[in-house]
Amino acid sequence: MSVKVCKFGGTSMADGNIITRVKWIVGQDPARKYIVVSAPGKRYSKDTKVTDLLYKCHADLRAGKHITESFALVRARYNSIVRELNLGIDFDHILDETEERIEAENSENFTASRGEYLCARLVAEVLGAKFVDAEDVIFFGDDGTTDDNATDKAIRAAVEGADLVVFPGFYGKTPEGKVKTFSRGGSDITGAIVARAVGASVYENWTDVSGFLACDPRIVDSPKRIKSISYKELRELSYMGANVLHSESIFPVRSAGIPVQIKNTFRPEDEGTEIVPISRYVPSGDIVTGIAGMKNFTIISIEKSMMNSEIGFMDKVLDVLAREHISVEHVPSGIDTMSLVIESEQLTGLKTERVLEGIKESVHPDLIRITENIALIATVGHGMSSSVGTAARIFAAIAHAGINIRIIDQGSSEINIILGVKNEDYERTIQAIYYEFFGQS
Ligand code: ADP
Ligand code: ASP
Ligand code: MG
Repeated sequence: MSVKVCKFGGTSMADGNIITRVKWIVGQDPARKYIVVSAPGKRYSKDTKVTDLLYKCHADLRAGKHITESFALVRARYNSIVRELNLGIDFDHILDETEERIEAENSENFTASRGEYLCARLVAEVLGAKFVDAEDVIFFGDDGTTDDNATDKAIRAAVEGADLVVFPGFYGKTPEGKVKTFSRGGSDITGAIVARAVGASVYENWTDVSGFLACDPRIVDSPKRIKSISYKELRELSYMGANVLHSESIFPVRSAGIPVQIKNTFRPEDEGTEIVPISRYVPSGDIVTGIAGMKNFTIISIEKSMMNSEIGFMDKVLDVLAREHISVEHVPSGIDTMSLVIESEQLTGLKTERVLEGIKESVHPDLIRITENIALIATVGHGMSSSVGTAARIFAAIAHAGINIRIIDQGSSEINIILGVKNEDYERTIQAIYYEFFGQS
């Protein structure tokens, strides 16, 4: 029998009415047996996600305060959901216990994880399903990645004999027995892990858009929906900021060949997007599949004559960054130049000075320059590798919009061209590339 894992995101958990809709969706298909939920998200644009309320609780704890006041906002969110659902359960008791444990554990990861924990407890109640705590089945190893064998085994044992199971997303347990979260948006990873463990026929990811769109709908009005996308394209786009699906959620499903479907909780009848292995990929005929990007990068540009003939030059530069625990996003290079593209938030305070001094000392460059406030934009598509002149069309479209390109990196992947522009040109650059390849609707 086919089984499906369904992950419902924060907006699908935002209030009682939406959770009732989720119950209806789950009931529509008996294959929907394994449910993973996020913490309640925003109900309206200025609202605060429960996870962000919890990070605020931890900030109070760290400042030596009690969390009574900040946790009251979390309580209010769940209490209103319980009321809307007419559940008639004593949720206050669970909230009290949670508040006490947050104070006792005094850990940011533990506090943040409670949004999913509480939500899964509630949803299990609504669905009449078994609740399985992620801390009992998702295990991290010493290196911070998940221990796949132990995790798969524990999930299989926990679901044995149950018809319907609800898991909280976003967290697991370390070898020391402490709760640890994935990075933000990580409930998508939990869903993919459960899908792998139970051998799901499909991983349905229910969110608030009708699929993966060719670019961020907040930048271009109603972008084209991507019907089918390969794991590889999705990885490139999600890594570069299209966070509909967490970029790391690809790995568990890819290794098991499980297709992912992005579906819209608010329009369940819409077809959505299917993410498949390249062997099952049906090309749409479009040259570009999608465009994504992120703001706030810093470029360190280094120039030195004959740099390319100096053995170990690049290693020495990268070593300076490794010593400061800084990861480098891209390293476009020329004959006598190399650039390091780094997320700006990694270069706070004295780190920038130390890095610049370190590089000067270690490779004695002719020139070293720093450019801040850079946005990176990736244009991705399998069609790009076989179509002549794609890069020229991208550059012409951007030039036509009067935007200056600061950096270009095609990397070794033929399906991705990455450009750097000023932060302030970010939205206009995405619009220019989108309209060039998809037309102005
Ligand atoms: P969830 O809470 O369900 O996990 P997310 O907020 O993480 O949902 O992801 C869905 C949101 O991603 C959409 O509401 C949309 O604003 C944003 N988004 C960014 N890029 C894209 C894209 N290329 N296609 C669709 N949505 C996108
Ligand atoms: N609630 C967590 C977050 O806001 C995880 C998730 O939504 O996937 O990041
Ligand atoms: Mg998400």
